[in-house]
Amino acid sequence: VEKTTLMDAQGIQRALTRIAHEIIEKNKGVQAVALVGIRTRGVPLAIRLAEIIEKIEGRRPPVGVLDITLYRDDLSTLSHQPIVHETKLPFVLDDVKIILVDDVLFTGRTVRAALDALIDIGRPTSIQLAVLIDRGHRELPIRADYVGKNVPTSKREVVSVQLASVDSIEQVVLQEF
Ligand code: 5GP
Ligand code: MG
Repeated sequence: VEKTTLMDAQGIQRALTRIAHEIIEKNKGVQAVALVGIRTRGVPLAIRLAEIIEKIEGRRPPVGVLDITLYRDDLSTLSHQPIVHETKLPFVLDDVKIILVDDVLFTGRTVRAALDALIDIGRPTSIQLAVLIDRGHRELPIRADYVGKNVPTSKREVVSVQLASVDSIEQVVLQEF
């Protein structure tokens, strides 16, 4: 397996800090903003963003969780079908600006499933998307509002996102199989 380091811990922290500032700017503060992390690694990323936003704005947006998995865990296979398992939203979904947070954006199918689930539950004012890595290969008309890093990949490559709170190390690595 060949590996290329795309981001180190400092690079991840800087990207999250920039995205936090962009979220605050675009929404003119974080009044009525709530973050929703897509499990697994979208959740610690959403919590990190909430912490950084609190340091800047003095107000911590609530963080919810969406558990969405793919039918196939072979990430190099396109056209997978995501299924929504569980939603934990500690806030009312009406009249709130939702920032969906995930580690990697690929075909867009997971985000589409997340949008369906959120719209079923309530009437958010808007839904925006933040991802640490956009690796391309979209199969749906979906794009991220906030991107840590755009990484053009081949379909045989996989982006390994490792976060200190979940993994023993913090880095983003491109792996080719
Ligand atoms: P999509 O549904 O857009 O095809 O894939 C996005 C979902 O699959 C995200 O939840 C993301 O965590 C996962 N995913 C897709 N490709 C990769 C990848 O290269 N690396 C990692 N870590 N996750 C990926
Ligand atoms: Mg995922």
